[in-house]
Amino acid sequence: ASPEMKSIRQQLPRWLETSLPCATRGNVASYIPELSKAPHNALGITLLSATGESASAGDCGLRFTMQSISKVFTLILALMDNGEDEVFSKVGMEPTGDNFNSMLKLELVRPGIPFNPMINAGAITVSSLIRGSSPEEKSERILHFFKDLAGNDRLDYDMGVYRSESDTGNLNRSISFFLKENGVLSGDVEEVLDVYFRHCSIVVDCADLARMALVLASNGTDPLTGKQLIPRRYVQIAKTFMTTCGMYNASGEFAIQVGLPAKSGVSGGILTLVPERYGIGVVGPALNDKGNSYAGVHLLQTISRELDWSMF
Ligand code: GLN
Repeated sequence: ASPEMKSIRQQLPRWLETSLPCATRGNVASYIPELSKAPHNALGITLLSATGESASAGDCGLRFTMQSISKVFTLILALMDNGEDEVFSKVGMEPTGDNFNSMLKLELVRPGIPFNPMINAGAITVSSLIRGSSPEEKSERILHFFKDLAGNDRLDYDMGVYRSESDTGNLNRSISFFLKENGVLSGDVEEVLDVYFRHCSIVVDCADLARMALVLASNGTDPLTGKQLIPRRYVQIAKTFMTTCGMYNASGEFAIQVGLPAKSGVSGGILTLVPERYGIGVVGPALNDKGNSYAGVHLLQTISRELDWSMF
């Protein structure tokens, strides 16, 4: 292993140990009832290098749903399906400073266009742009794309989480009907939401996230197979959104404390990367008040400081 990987492997358990107590300060998301079953004090991480070496610690084998992390990859698929001009005629490029599920600013910019594709309003709009003749076909294309990116043919949905969100997702329904009213969403609102809820419920572990992140770190090529999976320009767009909006209204703080492109989800996952070098997957279900993994953010902060990984 490389000298850096050796030192990571050696120190990772200790870094994880010091971040673990943070979990007690957070709460597991419960607005999707099924998510509240997640283990409060879990914390796991996997790092995967472009040369195929990996380091893992803690509950890296925990399986959890991608939730908002999926938004990065549906954005990329929508860009591959429609091109930049079409996608950005429906969704903006600016951070909001509001919560991920806020409707607050939907009335503010050019009527009804969501600020960015990382908040729910923007991501639901993006889901509506995925090519396919039915919701089933769209979902199938998304799952297939995610399998390729994770190098894992077994990726599938957690139907319990999917149903739980679909049964209770009234806020996302409100957002969607508002977008429909403003002509941003076309098609049947429930069908668009079905595609969105499904990709949010795709189950992964830290190794899956690390592999997907490594493709982004490597500008769209999976360095382990040599296959180009995403055009470089779309990776650039995705990484920029991750940096400016990926941690919602804590993205500025994360940029200062960690300094890497990242995307979080309410199940406690974080996908992040060190450009050209590492893909990283983290999980810690207890969240801070911005909806990001409490212990997960702390752990990434420690590692980034210790190894001087900030891009800035
Ligand atoms: N499926 C979740 C929702 O729409 C995703 C949100 C998140 O992970 N922050 O509320």
